[in-house]
Amino acid sequence: MILPKSNRLTPEQVAEITSIAAEFGCKIQPIVGAVRTIYAIVGDERDELMINRIEGLAYIDRIDRIQSPFKLMDKRSDLASHRIEVGGVTLGRELFVIAGACTIDPKNPNLFYETAQAVKEAGAHMIRGGVWKPRTNPYTFQGDTKSLDILMEAARRTGLPVDTEVMEESQIKLALDAGVTSLQVGARNALNYSLLRQIGKAVADRDVVVLLKRSIHNGAVNEFISAAEYIAAFGNPNILLCPRGTTPTLDGYRNHPDESITPLLKEKTWAPVVVDPSHSVGKAAYVPACALAAVAYGADGLCIESHVSPNHGIGDDPKQAVTPAVLAELIAQAKELWRLRRREPAAAGAK
Ligand code: PEP
Ligand code: MN
Repeated sequence: MILPKSNRLTPEQVAEITSIAAEFGCKIQPIVGAVRTIYAIVGDERDELMINRIEGLAYIDRIDRIQSPFKLMDKRSDLASHRIEVGGVTLGRELFVIAGACTIDPKNPNLFYETAQAVKEAGAHMIRGGVWKPRTNPYTFQGDTKSLDILMEAARRTGLPVDTEVMEESQIKLALDAGVTSLQVGARNALNYSLLRQIGKAVADRDVVVLLKRSIHNGAVNEFISAAEYIAAFGNPNILLCPRGTTPTLDGYRNHPDESITPLLKEKTWAPVVVDPSHSVGKAAYVPACALAAVAYGADGLCIESHVSPNHGIGDDPKQAVTPAVLAELIAQAKELWRLRRREPAAAGAK
């Protein structure tokens, strides 16, 4: 919908926007109001160039898009009936839990094996473990490719699928060749379109999923879903959207908890939402409340950092990993809340 700066356009101006629209196979339909006339774009209005050319005209205020910018991730697309299955769970049918260490310590593989076994017993469906780490400080531990073997050994020992973050093409290949089930796109790379494309291409014909974190810089809802569209465009729509807190931070927390974005995502996309409370609040003591809040907001799953001995962990683990005992209790409560929430519409008499 084109909104002009004045109450209506002159015939010359209408002719100009009509001719631009025609170049993109669209027509212009005036909608005459008592005071103001606005102009509908009839046809596929998703072409950025058409929008930019019309919006760039001095007499145009703005264009409000009616069509969704996403062809595949949109809730109204054919993919809406697509179901993602991982770790024996069909997303949306049961609360899905990813848990494990922030960072695998290659010097202490047993800590990761014990953690993997413990989070499995606590009820996790997939194990997470950072092999390569995006670190703010270039002098801190950046991860180690050797940890990939440790991650896969944990997968073998527990029989669970594993998730790890990849930041470059060589890591994508190594992770997929090793048999990693879930490639994580981190919050710092969520808007790295060439990486998203590389991942999209690499996962296109594989039975794997992508855990896409929300950009740390307060990525808008559409921006978040568009990042998923980049991946899905290559053919694999197994994408889990992962809000994980944004900047500026909420004083005292690591980031600004953003689990409340879940209903907004669900209004626009069919993709499951798996909230990461650990990076959101950044301290183990606050993680359970944030995780439950996420479930209350309608999340389909949780991604939680957990460690058998947080103090002996590396990366984020000493400060934000919950113990497996806390994780087990949290999963039990989250499942209860999840079931309660499923009953909510009928109980509330929404229809
Ligand atoms: C992580 O999962 O350990 C991590 C670095 O996540 P994020 O990209 O959300 O900071
Ligand atoms: Mn971490």
